[in-house]
Amino acid sequence: MNHYGIFVNGEWSDYGLDKIEVRNPATNEVIATVPNGGADEANKATDAAYDAFQGWAGLSVYERSELIWKWHRLIEERKEELGYIMTMEQGKPLKEAIGEISYANGFLSWYAEEGKRVYGETIPATQANKRLFVSKQPVGVVAVITPWNFPAAMITRKVAPALAVGCTVVIKPSELTPLTAIKLVELAEQAGIPKGIINVVTGDANAIGTAWIEDNRVRKLTFTGSTKVGKLLMKGAADTVKKISLELGGHAPVIVVADADLDKAVAGVLNSKFRNAGQTCVCANRVYVHESIYDTFIEKLVLKVKTLKVGNGFEEGTDIGPLINQSAVDKVLAHIKDAIDQGAKLETGGMGQNGLFLEPTILSNIDDSMLCMQEETFGPLAPIASFKTDEEAIKRANQSNYGLAAYVFTENISRGIRITEALEFGIVGLNDGLPSTPQAPFGGFKQSGLGREGGHQGIEEYLEVKYISLGL
Ligand code: ADP
Repeated sequence: MNHYGIFVNGEWSDYGLDKIEVRNPATNEVIATVPNGGADEANKATDAAYDAFQGWAGLSVYERSELIWKWHRLIEERKEELGYIMTMEQGKPLKEAIGEISYANGFLSWYAEEGKRVYGETIPATQANKRLFVSKQPVGVVAVITPWNFPAAMITRKVAPALAVGCTVVIKPSELTPLTAIKLVELAEQAGIPKGIINVVTGDANAIGTAWIEDNRVRKLTFTGSTKVGKLLMKGAADTVKKISLELGGHAPVIVVADADLDKAVAGVLNSKFRNAGQTCVCANRVYVHESIYDTFIEKLVLKVKTLKVGNGFEEGTDIGPLINQSAVDKVLAHIKDAIDQGAKLETGGMGQNGLFLEPTILSNIDDSMLCMQEETFGPLAPIASFKTDEEAIKRANQSNYGLAAYVFTENISRGIRITEALEFGIVGLNDGLPSTPQAPFGGFKQSGLGREGGHQGIEEYLEVKYISLGL
């Protein structure tokens, strides 16, 4: 079994620390160990990133871009192997894991080029003997804290724009899925990205996070994870007035209006709900279907859901792998039980459980007071509620403190646009269950977060604006 190290200043070492076991959620086997790092290792990583910053920022963007492209090519060559490691530690079906590697790599290619388009401005001055310029420069050392549901993409989505503009990074991957991150960084090293530019510390989340939050040299924190931890980090960041980007929880509604193409809507819900076993922050979490098509929609959806194969992600044809751990399973089961206790009807699936594997579940006769309509389930459960008017659907969809993704299905484009504009969400899939892509901005309204990742917007998060006033 492999024991991996912490990566600081171009060197891998376990610093003689205790080990954290990484398990395969499909089998519960320990597949590797990583060091249980803490504040000391976090500080060493910051030292390295801080020392490397001036040199990296001093290269031309074309030089940085070339190195990011080299990294991209190595990832492309090794994507099957990387996907394999991801399935082993995270559980998602192998084809989905390899798909995530390609998606993750898309951030490297996008930002390797987007970095070349960080333009400044000149502003007409009030006096004839002045010239006003605006330029942009990297913020400095960036702390990157990522979750387990997308072990590769959540890293590249943050690291690629940071590196492209000249920032250096200290990364803490989830303790549940550190191996994909470690493998990606090994390839960055092979690509020739100089020492100190990327550093990875595994271990005690609170100790590492606190060390970075309190350090004035860390100028930016970018985090994807739970709203609870996001709020904690946001409060902590206040003391050093750190810039922050937060991608937090979601509670995505789907609105299927009467004139929707039902096959499209069913396919959209399937894609959005069951990818990654329902463990994504943009997963359809509550489905509102117009009363006139409610029964037909459920019938069609149930037929499709029954064909989904649950199993080990390495088995051919698996659509849904295990959930990440027991508390994830317990949450889904609690949501199902609560809904059924309050009168929901079980259309398919249910409380059956085998290790961390859960059956995909559809519930009908849903009321908004049920737990599954109040909070993020993060699992393969789709509660289907009915509505009478578009206004009602919009109101119910917006009745949440979350505002990440929403989905609308209608064949009437004007109606689709009207509903989309009324939704208080950062991402709307209009007849589309899979909106995420590197060239578009991803992020939420309300308590779903701050800032955007992806798109040309995503690079601004790593830039400071400098205004220069020149007297002639
Ligand atoms: P999830 O529910 O997706 O696991 P978390 O917010 O718990 O979400 O975890 C997301 C990331 O935040 C992980 O890398 C985790 O280790 C890290 N994390 C958890 N608690 C803290 C903390 N107190 N300070 C910094 N990072 C934390």
